[in-house]
Amino acid sequence: MESGAGSRDPGIPIPDSRLPIPDAFQRPLGSLRLSVTDRCNMRCGYCMPEEHYVWLPRESLLSFEELDRLAGIFHRLGVRKVRLTGGEPLLRHGLPRLIGMLARRDLVDLALTTNGILLGDHAAALRDAGLRRITVSLDTLRPDRMRAFARTDRHGEVLRGIAAARSAGFRSIKLNSVIVRGFNDDEVADLLAFAGAGDLELRYIEYMDVGGATRWRREDVVTRAELLDTIRRRFGAPEPVPDPGNPHAPAERFRLPDGTRFGIIASVTAPFCGSCDRSRVTADGTWFTCLYAERGVDLREPLRMGADDETIATLIEATWTARSDRGAEDRLRMLERGVLYQVEGLRQDPHREMHTRGG
Ligand code: SF4
Repeated sequence: MESGAGSRDPGIPIPDSRLPIPDAFQRPLGSLRLSVTDRCNMRCGYCMPEEHYVWLPRESLLSFEELDRLAGIFHRLGVRKVRLTGGEPLLRHGLPRLIGMLARRDLVDLALTTNGILLGDHAAALRDAGLRRITVSLDTLRPDRMRAFARTDRHGEVLRGIAAARSAGFRSIKLNSVIVRGFNDDEVADLLAFAGAGDLELRYIEYMDVGGATRWRREDVVTRAELLDTIRRRFGAPEPVPDPGNPHAPAERFRLPDGTRFGIIASVTAPFCGSCDRSRVTADGTWFTCLYAERGVDLREPLRMGADDETIATLIEATWTARSDRGAEDRLRMLERGVLYQVEGLRQDPHREMHTRGG
């Protein structure tokens, strides 16, 4: 049951001329990832490889009204792109109602990242509620591999979910594939062929050493250069597709000779911190200005203690203005690079988990 709108301030005196709000490196406060749950119905090896997890207390999760109110405050501060994440966001009961609330705001982009298992049941309701863009994680075309790597035998449901999204009228469907050596690096070209045949845009993601990646090893990262080489050998030379209208996009985009487009998010070997306009709110209202940030800012406390919108906006603005995070670049400079956190460190603070931060 969602409840608790808290106090609203009808207007925050931040004139448009002050937008966008720059951080310490002149990066604007531009896009926001809102996590709606830390739970997931998969256990991908690059994110949740352990048997047991410490979950956020249920009473700490923000209600839809609280999430929408926060989105409104961020919107007034210049955020025009919102992506709903998890965990697996479709595990949050009644999600289309939140989509409907957010869709009423003047956003340029409202998107959702899902593992696709529940998409078949919800695609039409999400579309009706106002969602326009969906990204589905699909790391392998082989059900046996998904069973071994993500501990689920619901591969068929993911494929049905993608088909349901298409039938529901979603025109922009992306696939995200994290490529891990020894797991799915022999499927790099097959995944692209699958995406091209279904008019889906595939984005390869380098295996990152974030939060829950407790088995991460440098040698398991399949690099941007390796990906491009594999693709060139199967399909011919890809050519870069500049995207000047989207200077903060994390993916570098390419086009194959047959016109198929794809992207690479080279977070490990070619970090894009210099143009990063992204921040993340966890399902319990902790705001992180970088995926690698050690600590976040508690926005739930002021929300629930009766702070007005202007007070919360001032806190967000002051935090963003001081932001100097360049987490992936800092990691790239490390000579001895291993996992970011050991399991014990994650158990002490579940906010360090990638499935809590929204990836
Ligand atoms: S590491 Fe941090 S600053 Fe760099 S791109 Fe990722 S979220 Fe942005």
